[in-house]
Amino acid sequence: MPAFLSTEERGRYERQIGIDEIGEAGQVKLKQAKVCICGAGGLGSPAAMYLAAAGIGTITLVDHDRVALTNLNRQILHGDSDIGRFKVASAKATLHQLNAHVIVNAVQSHITQENARALVADHDIIIDALDNLGTRYILNKAALVSNIPFIHGAVNGFEGRIMTILPGRSTCLRCLYRGPVEPPPAIPVIGVTPAVIGALQATEAIKIIIGIGEFLADRLLIYDGLKLKFSEFKLRKNPTCDHCGYSSGRISSCV
Ligand SMILES: [Zn+2]
Repeated sequence: MPAFLSTEERGRYERQIGIDEIGEAGQVKLKQAKVCICGAGGLGSPAAMYLAAAGIGTITLVDHDRVALTNLNRQILHGDSDIGRFKVASAKATLHQLNAHVIVNAVQSHITQENARALVADHDIIIDALDNLGTRYILNKAALVSNIPFIHGAVNGFEGRIMTILPGRSTCLRCLYRGPVEPPPAIPVIGVTPAVIGALQATEAIKIIIGIGEFLADRLLIYDGLKLKFSEFKLRKNPTCDHCGYSSGRISSCV
């Protein structure tokens, strides 16, 4: 991506270039950034759409699934006519319509121990828009060994949570969770919950790329839509964590 903005881009992004913390230099950083969004569903939809609208240069979407009727209450990348299509194909079309400047890599694939590092390679940020802990652990480790910031998000009903993992510097997902990796049952959720959390994940990505603000590292933010409250919990690295622990003097590298 060229390190300058066209006249059309200056116009398109005028209202955010006008923010002191962004400016034209920040907009160029967004244009040159590559973000890998793992999951093109409830969280991936708002994250991808707001990052595309903000002018992220390259977005890679990874998802193996097809669009189903039961997705449509929350997965706003897709509509009725997309039922049966691969989600990454539907998502690519939606993002192109939103902002044709963005390069969208649509990767129709499962995320596995074997392919995770290759999928996230050369990206500046990884966004966890998944629906199961087992794949999240795989991504967590891939982010750590690849030294790529990893933004975790999860939703259930009216509740959502988000944290940012800065490899080598902050608490990782495995420090926090020890849960089973079995696939979960279909999690009930109202679409506005992933809308909130996905938009916050996009906010963190934009800040990290430009290098502004304070990141949600070593902090778990929990959103309760029913009470309309945010709660924050301080996190501490587990020195014996089997993903990021340094007891052996180096990052575990099983991925
Ligand atoms: Zn850890």
